[in-house]
Amino acid sequence: MGQPHILILGPPGAGKGTQSGNIAEEYGIEHVTTGDALRGNKDMDISDMDTEYDTPRAYMEAGDLVPDAVVNAIVEEALSAADGFVLDGYPRNLEQAEELSGMTDIDVVLSLEVSREELVDRLSGRRVCDGCGANFHVEFDQPAEEGICDGCGGELEQREDDRPEAVENRLDVFDENTTPVIEQYQDHEGFVAIDGEQPPAEVWGAIDSAVRERADVSE
Ligand code: AMP
Repeated sequence: MGQPHILILGPPGAGKGTQSGNIAEEYGIEHVTTGDALRGNKDMDISDMDTEYDTPRAYMEAGDLVPDAVVNAIVEEALSAADGFVLDGYPRNLEQAEELSGMTDIDVVLSLEVSREELVDRLSGRRVCDGCGANFHVEFDQPAEEGICDGCGGELEQREDDRPEAVENRLDVFDENTTPVIEQYQDHEGFVAIDGEQPPAEVWGAIDSAVRERADVSE
């Protein structure tokens, strides 16, 4: 059996990025994240893909989904270069889920569950380091010095799409487009729901045991 193929699903702010980082490090697999890939390419020219806007930026700043053709191509390329992976931020609608099923098999599907109220608090207070990408929170996870990253000394910023109007829209987009994807994966034999409201270390404990039960991660 090759290295594990893991999917992590859940609303924005559920902790997918943090836990995917843990997964990638623990099992020595790739962290494939469409959000980071798109943030690094916000101004790429997508006009030849017959999209409403010419770059991903406008979709992302409003909290809307970037067109499937753009995201599918990013994932296809990343997965073809990876043996084991944790896929974070994709699929976000049923069309993407269909596309993914034609690209590869999945061993474990982790679904992080967090209430909407908690997500709004987490996202609106989140601050991200412009240097290393580390996440902080104005209330729940303050840096030693306000506005400065503990890790690399970079400046902490609010993501454009963590502003209140975009947060509400992202959660609506999730309810409408991604909830049906999760419902569909509930029938997958590797599906497991994880309580994402626990402290991060406990979420990680639940994920680690779930993955070890369902995939071969022996080194
Ligand atoms: P994230 O960091 O995962 O919350 O993603 C940030 C933004 O990138 C989203 O609000 C979307 O605009 C875009 N994005 C990320 N992944 C996808 C996807 N699978 N499909 C469409 N848009 C995406």
